[in-house]
Amino acid sequence: MTFENLNIIAPITQALKQKGYVEPTPIQEKAIPHLLKGSDVFGTAQTGTGKTAAFAIPILQKLYAGQADRKTSGIRALVLAPTRELAIQISESFSDYSKGLRLRHTVVYGGVSQNPQTTILKKGIDILIATPGRLIDLMNQGFIRLDTIEFFILDEADRMLDMGFAPDIKRIIAKLPARKQTGFFTATIPQEIRALADSLLHNPVMIHVAPNSAPAESVNQSVYYVEKADKRAMLQQVFESEEIETALIFTRTKHGADKVTRELNKIGISAVAIHGNKSQMARQKALQGFKNRTIKVLVATDIASRGIDVDKLTHVINFELPEVPETYVHRIGRTGRAGESGTAISFCASEERGSLKDINKLLPRAIEVKRMNGFVASSHTALDMVAAERPERPSFHGRPARPSNSGQRPFQRKRW
Ligand code: AMP
Repeated sequence: MTFENLNIIAPITQALKQKGYVEPTPIQEKAIPHLLKGSDVFGTAQTGTGKTAAFAIPILQKLYAGQADRKTSGIRALVLAPTRELAIQISESFSDYSKGLRLRHTVVYGGVSQNPQTTILKKGIDILIATPGRLIDLMNQGFIRLDTIEFFILDEADRMLDMGFAPDIKRIIAKLPARKQTGFFTATIPQEIRALADSLLHNPVMIHVAPNSAPAESVNQSVYYVEKADKRAMLQQVFESEEIETALIFTRTKHGADKVTRELNKIGISAVAIHGNKSQMARQKALQGFKNRTIKVLVATDIASRGIDVDKLTHVINFELPEVPETYVHRIGRTGRAGESGTAISFCASEERGSLKDINKLLPRAIEVKRMNGFVASSHTALDMVAAERPERPSFHGRPARPSNSGQRPFQRKRW
């Protein structure tokens, strides 16, 4: 399957080639034809599946085709995203795919001055990407009207409700014209999402791409048993033994993220923490530095990491395991994207074994246990415990899932 097979017009296929996209991802293959035809789409897919292009390409193509006979000068497409980072990334994708189309788009989000945003809005745009809060602010001040919208995309709808945006979304939807085409994307379908979709979509085409196994397949996963006090030393060891171009390190707390960042900086690794206590400017600067490779490592909490999307992220390191097992899959889905292979390394202390057990239950096969010279878990029986916690069942290769290492070395603590 090629983009040409999906009847994508030449200027867009050329832009996609420039981005290095060879063929459509499954969600693109499934969603693009329906969106081009004019149907509403309800898509269950996560970030990392290529869903941005799945809605951006048909919007661009349809707006481009309708440019000549347009009657109004208002905004024609609205994309709502839950976070500033995601909104910015979506906007960058529109820039990438729309080269040569002469369609204007912009992105508005909170936490920064609104003046540069309103200056662009006043000049007139075709496509608006927005976070709900700032959109409502600008609507209330009369900078934005939604009565000319032809295409509406609600991205990461479940996350939006989770972040408390339900009232804002309802207010925004109420201002949209009844006649429009809608794309609704969500990773999960809790009851309130179903209700919102029902109220918004007309005879939608349902599209599903496997959320869980997709990122994990291309990611080489391993776990080290290491006690809490030794994690920072082990992290240094990992950086010495692995070829790490870019890494996203997850910690459970903001304080933990700051600590790990300081330690990495001390040993000469360019790292920046990205979390809720950082200003919007600092977050954007960190993301930019990461993208242009002046920063090698981002250290993030789960909430702050939402929307971080970097091409060719080589490593995800779980300095601490998440309590919710699905979060592990989200985290490691940041690497190994769109056919690239990636590496996910997790550290598991004694008190995190319950979390590891839950994560392993969710995966088609248990994460491979590795051992680093000089480090062992404090309990002699730790590995046996974990093996016992996970009932043996055939893995994908027909072998029982088992930790792969054996033997123990005397305990030896290293310090940075
Ligand atoms: P998304 O799920 O939209 O956040 O996209 C995930 C990543 O996949 C982004 O870095 C995109 O640039 C990339 N991507 C999207 N579509 C394709 C494709 N057809 N081929 C290769 N990479 C893609």
